[in-house]
This record gives sequence, structure tokens and C-alpha cells, in this order.
Amino acid sequence: MAQSYESTRNFQLKAAASEAVLKGIADDGGLFVMRDLGKKKVPIMSLPGKSYMEIAEVVLSILLDDFPEEKIKECVRKAYTEKFSTPEVTPVVKVGENYVTELFHGPTSAFKDVALCILPHLMTASYEMNKMAGEIIILTATSGDTGKAALEGFKDVKGTKVVVFYPLGGVSKVQELQMVTQEGENTFVCGVKGNFDDAQTGVKNIFTNKSFNREMAGRNKFLSSANSINIGRLVPQTAYYFYSYAKLIEEEAVKLGDKVNFAVPTGNFGNILAGYYAKMLGLPINKLICASNENNVLYDFIKRGVYDKNRELYRTISPSMDILVSSNLERLLYYMSGNDNERVKDYMDRLNTSGRYEILDQMAEKLKEDFYGGCVFKEDAQKTIKRVYEEYGYLLDTHTAVAYKTLEEYKMDTKDETVSVVLSTASPFKFAGSVYEALYGKTNVDEFALMEDLSQKTRVKIPENLKEIKNKKIRHFEACEVNEMEGFVAKASNKRINEVKND
Ligand SMILES: *Cc1c(COP(=O)(O)O)cnc(C)c1O
Repeated sequence: MAQSYESTRNFQLKAAASEAVLKGIADDGGLFVMRDLGKKKVPIMSLPGKSYMEIAEVVLSILLDDFPEEKIKECVRKAYTEKFSTPEVTPVVKVGENYVTELFHGPTSAFKDVALCILPHLMTASYEMNKMAGEIIILTATSGDTGKAALEGFKDVKGTKVVVFYPLGGVSKVQELQMVTQEGENTFVCGVKGNFDDAQTGVKNIFTNKSFNREMAGRNKFLSSANSINIGRLVPQTAYYFYSYAKLIEEEAVKLGDKVNFAVPTGNFGNILAGYYAKMLGLPINKLICASNENNVLYDFIKRGVYDKNRELYRTISPSMDILVSSNLERLLYYMSGNDNERVKDYMDRLNTSGRYEILDQMAEKLKEDFYGGCVFKEDAQKTIKRVYEEYGYLLDTHTAVAYKTLEEYKMDTKDETVSVVLSTASPFKFAGSVYEALYGKTNVDEFALMEDLSQKTRVKIPENLKEIKNKKIRHFEACEVNEMEGFVAKASNKRINEVKND
């Protein structure tokens, strides 16, 4: 089998794509990257007229190069046929002079669905390809969005169970209800008495507990992760960049070969990195516009070439971007350094010990060629939501507003007139309170009443999945201390699926 992937930190740690999907992370803590990324290109001229699924097949077969074509087709079909509320999967709409690609029509109304709907199928396919037998148990600690998207993605997928830990009192009311009402016989949800870091550390400890893993393996149970460092989450996101471009050609907004910009609300750097992959695979991208909120580590990094996480973490109205260590940046460093594993390892060691590293001048220059960094704070994000709604009748969520405004600033700053696409990462109703406040001022009404009110006032429909949770039965009541998390996983692993049904 072609071992096209290697650890960012050591080129000797090789893996086939399917192995990388199963492992999630390399043994030395590095991330899996394809050394020859870009050698094989996506034929751009063949894209217009193709459906989302057809485009995803083309892109995935290049990046997951040991998967048989039939397998890829099957995974794509299972992921995107029924779970998205529109057959386009990620519709592209015109807003003012820009375009917006809506990534939020999946089962949890956030862009993470695009990857988490297909990851379970890529995992089970990888499992078969590597002739493994048994059950995969997905462990996830979540600060809100990932947990629900993972639960929905893995729900009732044969041969898998999914266990999600969230910090009690640390997620929004809507997010908690989304998780505790989760259906599916193979889903397990537990509130942890602690904050997100405690839950995350608890999960990491379970992954690295050798005796626990051995004991599980003895019963043919294997732990895996649905975290965004898994290539199975990154790779599917590349497809919507190509899809957006195909739509722009179909609408005659650009001609074949013309360049476009993409503006991306960024946290862990997974979404925008997929854009860089698309560029390497031949998509004519001019600039990738990296938009941050008050937690603007990446803005500083792109400007100065210094990554410094030694600062306070702010809680903002775009919580899914509240992050100080953007894990997927490690993959970009690998490519920017010309596949220099030792250099990446050195930077990551520095990040671990001092929380800071500085890249070479030539890397910093290359970074600026491909990326533009901006940051937008609360007041400007709110103003943008209000103005875009008033001018164009289009409702942005709090994350997308950050990217929209950053794009406007970029255009002012550079006078660049290249056609631009904003990636929209969440339904405005997922953050109804903040969106409502931006439009009509503060209120104390409860989230669900607010959703209704917002919908009536703006005439934008509430996604069914969000509307439904109010009336759904709570199915998950468990809570535990951090040191009881392992026990919870053990118990979940022991449950026979048909027993869970009558639980
Ligand atoms: C996760 C998330 C982001 C950030 O995406 P990254 O890939 O982590 O950069 C932005 N917006 C929303 C709504 C998200 O859920």
C-alpha cells in the first residue's frame, strides 16, 4: 500500500491514508501530511456542472490515495445524500458584491458537519482495508460544536460507538440540549465536573493509558478520535472550495482559470488549511483571508512571523473561534518550510516549552503571499451583522460576520478586486442571542423564544434540527468527575447495542 503520508515531525513515520485516518495522530505527536501534495492536480475544467458529491469524489480520491474508487463513492454517498437539508450540500449565494458559501446545512447547523458526516464512513472503510475487526470507539471532548456534530455523524454507524464529554455549565443551553437529546443506539454523552481543559485532558489521558488500551484491544475495541487533527476531517473540507469555484464559473462570475479569494472565520486552522490544500491541488486561489476575533494569535502570526500564545483567552460572541493554539497550523509550517520535518519539530518543541516560536524570514514572506490576516472585535462584528442584513437582507452568524468584515477590510486595504467568497460556518440561529442583540439590542428572552422572534422579524427559517430540540426527550443524564471518565468509557464499551435500545 502506498504510504503517502508522514508525520510533520519525522519523515520516517510513514502511513497510508487509511492508516492515518485510523490513527488520527502520529506516534510522535506530529500530524499526518502528504509529502507529495500537489503533484497530482484536480482538473479544473472538468468541474463546472458537477454535483457536490461528484466533486468530492474527485478531490478525495487524490488525497485518500489508497482508498478504492468504489469505496470513496460509497462514503460520499452515505455522508451527503440524506443528512443535508439541501441537495447542493453547500449552496453558494451572492451577498452584495461578494459570494457566500453556506457550510451549515448539515444535521447540527455548523460547518463541522461537512467533515463529521463522512468521517465515520472513512473510518469504517479504513478499518476494513486494514483488515481489522472489532469495534471503534470514538472519544471526544467538546466545547460545544464538535461534540454534537460527532454524535450525529457516528449515530447508528455499524461497528462504532461515540462517547462525548462536555464541561457541565461550560456550553450554551442550546448546545447542551443538542447533545443530551441525542438519539442513536451507539451514542454516549457525559457531563464532566470541570472546565473544557479538564475534559480534554481526561480524554488525552484515556488515549495514552497503555494498560486500558491493551485491555480494550483484548476485547476487540479500539479507541479513536474525531478531533480536527485527523486527516479524515481535514480532507473532506477541500471539496467545497472546488465546489464554490465551479458554481462561480456556472454563474459566469469568473472565467475558467481566473483567481478568487476565500475569507474564512478561523479557530483551529482546519477550514482555511483545506483552502491551502485546494490551492496546492490546482485551484486558482489568489488570497486566503484568515479572519480572527479578539483571540487574534493568527493575525499577529501572519503579520510578524511570530506565534505567541502567551496571552489571555477571551470569551467572545464567536465562541468556536476562541482558541490560542491552532493545531492545524503545524501542517502549514511543514509545507511553508519545504517539508522540513526537523524544523517543524523544533517549532513545536518551542511552542510546548515557551509558548512561542518565530519562523524564518523566507517562510514569513511565503506566508504573506498566500494568506492575509485580519481580526474583527465584537462591536464591528455586530455592526456588520446589522448592516449586511439591512443592505442585502442576508443574515450572518457571529463567526461569518468576522470573516465578512475582514474581507471588506482587506479590499479597502489592498484595492484588490478579485471575486471573493466568504465561507459561512454556522446558521445564525445557532447563536440566536448574539445575532438578535446585533440587530435589535439586548433582551432577556429565552433562547428558543428568541429564535422564533428572530425568524419572524427577519423571515429567515429556523433549521429544523434546532427547532426540534426544544421538544425532544432528554436521553443522556450522566455526569462524572474527571477521574471517572475512564470508567464511563469502559461501561459504554461493554454495552451491547441492542441493550442500549431499551435503556
Ligand atoms: C469550528 C468552527 C470554526 C473554526 O474552524 P477551524 O477549522 O477550527 O478554524 C468557525 N466557525 C464555526 C461556527 C465553527 O464551529
